[in-house]
Amino acid sequence: MVSRRILIVEDEDVLRRILTDALTCAGYEVVAAADGEQGLLLFDAHCPDLVVADIMLPRMDGFDMVRRMRSRREATQYLFLSARSDAEDVVDGFKAGASDYIRKPFAMNELLVRIEALLSRFADADDRIVFDIGEYSYDSSAQILVRGAKSVRLSSREASILTALVRSHGKVVSSRSLLLDIWGDDSYYNLRSLNVYVSKLRAMLHADSSVEIISERGIGYKLCVDKSRKNGK
Ligand code: CA
Repeated sequence: MVSRRILIVEDEDVLRRILTDALTCAGYEVVAAADGEQGLLLFDAHCPDLVVADIMLPRMDGFDMVRRMRSRREATQYLFLSARSDAEDVVDGFKAGASDYIRKPFAMNELLVRIEALLSRFADADDRIVFDIGEYSYDSSAQILVRGAKSVRLSSREASILTALVRSHGKVVSSRSLLLDIWGDDSYYNLRSLNVYVSKLRAMLHADSSVEIISERGIGYKLCVDKSRKNGK
């Protein structure tokens, strides 16, 4: 199995080194940054499976950094480290997209257990999967849709929608669940936006007529691959 990649963003030098050593020893591939901006750069360069982030960071705080990371890549998990302990921080952390939260000081064993749990909890949501969609091949990790010699890179939202549709195996995915999972709220404005994204995906999948994203009015969408439809055309 490919080793999981973890990005540590922690400005305390000693703690960053201890974390790097401990996680490397535990078999993870580790990259580490000392501030929020460097964290973002390493995030883009390494596509980590999990980010361990301090909240109080120079140049860009942990919440802001993770919010930006989440808008770039859906599949990464986030664990915040914090010296602060009031409940509001926890709420802010989860709003920013934290999957888990641990208070400093912590025992390294506890951190390792939490990391393992996060990575295995989301193991079946493993993003390194290539799906066949008719004549297309869709790499949900790289967010690339390929047909023959042509490839298209999807935006994060396009990729999230297509991944949800392809994972549901032809069953309807409700607009509400797509909106809540991807946008974070199911307002009418976002519903309009979802419709626009689906139109874009339809255009990307247009070259194979057996592939169709069907609208179930008032409910949601389903992705169908019907070879007979193609022969009939
Ligand atoms: Ca700090």
